[in-house]
Amino acid sequence: MTKTFSPTKRLLVKGIIATCLLSVTRIGFAAAMAQVVAVRVWPSSTYTRITLESNISLKYKQFLLSNPNRIAIDINNISLNPILKNISSKVLKHDPYIKSIRVVQRDQKIVRILIELKQDVKPNTFALSPIAKFKHRLVMDLYPSKPASSKNDDPLLALLEEYKKGELNKKQSEIKSPTNKNKNAPIIVVLDPGHGGEDPGAIGYNKTREKDIVLQIARRTYNLLKKEPNIKVYMTRNEDVFIPLKVRVAKARSLRADLFISIHADAFANRSVGGSSVFALSTGGASSSAASYLAQTQNEADQIGGVSRSGDKYLDNTILDLVQKTTLSNGVLLGNAILNRMKKVNKLHKPFLEKAGFAVLKAPDIPSILVETAFISNTAEEKKLKTAAFQNQVSKAIFDGVKDYIKKRKK
Ligand SMILES: [Zn+2]
Repeated sequence: MTKTFSPTKRLLVKGIIATCLLSVTRIGFAAAMAQVVAVRVWPSSTYTRITLESNISLKYKQFLLSNPNRIAIDINNISLNPILKNISSKVLKHDPYIKSIRVVQRDQKIVRILIELKQDVKPNTFALSPIAKFKHRLVMDLYPSKPASSKNDDPLLALLEEYKKGELNKKQSEIKSPTNKNKNAPIIVVLDPGHGGEDPGAIGYNKTREKDIVLQIARRTYNLLKKEPNIKVYMTRNEDVFIPLKVRVAKARSLRADLFISIHADAFANRSVGGSSVFALSTGGASSSAASYLAQTQNEADQIGGVSRSGDKYLDNTILDLVQKTTLSNGVLLGNAILNRMKKVNKLHKPFLEKAGFAVLKAPDIPSILVETAFISNTAEEKKLKTAAFQNQVSKAIFDGVKDYIKKRKK
């Protein structure tokens, strides 16, 4: 990850400190004008996200206008620049919620953003502090007011709603013990392509984005698994959308998944490092310092992708111990089964199943693993990751590993 040095930001910080030292009032802050440095619009069937990235945090007021239905956001202390103006061109025709966006300078210091809507929405607006390569962000997520009933049985929208309110774990499905399952019921596999939307994941030397590659691999794996008569397969996301880690786990739990496979591509500062890895959940420490670092950076996905709140309780409940033991040992079994297949399609980064505390692997009753398909930071592997041939090989390895596991697992 490259850190960009921003001289303007630095001068600004110095200016603010100087004003504080003179200890006058907050007039010094008012004088600092905000600058929008990037705008992004992420449409998806579940929700559309608008992100304004700026050098300092934005002060805004938001209100609804009717005839036609619009959302207006007045941003203070800012003048319209070409980047902000360009937001109109970011709206895609197929966006389910946004018809158009206009920006106008209301007076010397206020810019108004007008979002014309295609349907009634519930906006959720929040600010994010700088993280990784991102500066301050103002995020607006537009959710449908009335979820379309045609949206089959996908629980994603409802789970995101609960997540926003901090109620995700209150309404979670009961803990599934292996014994209360019908033996002839199909095996439910949930594939989890990592990252998405505002969170690109790792980025290769040639700008390949992890989020795109892993979605393609997950789709290929999905297509293989869906042909199996005794398997039912779902995906946590099938679009370029940001889904918080806990919502991914919650989706798998509400689908009553039997196994969960998170798909990623690794990255390291040293471009010569390569190979595939498979991780199972560790409840204690990580199997290596690199594994622990990786888990830490992957768990930051929520801060990078951006979420307004969170909550996590059920993991601390000791009643789960027994269920968790079976889950963990089945996770190891699944991980090894996939690792054995992966070593036929790529060299391994480490010749054994690794363990780390990835947040996305923490469903107490679902054996969960994470596959680092290859290093996107390694130019040779980046090139490979983009090819249909390698993507198919990885998908087949995951598919075969799942089938090997099903034969061996403890019930
Ligand atoms: Zn990742």
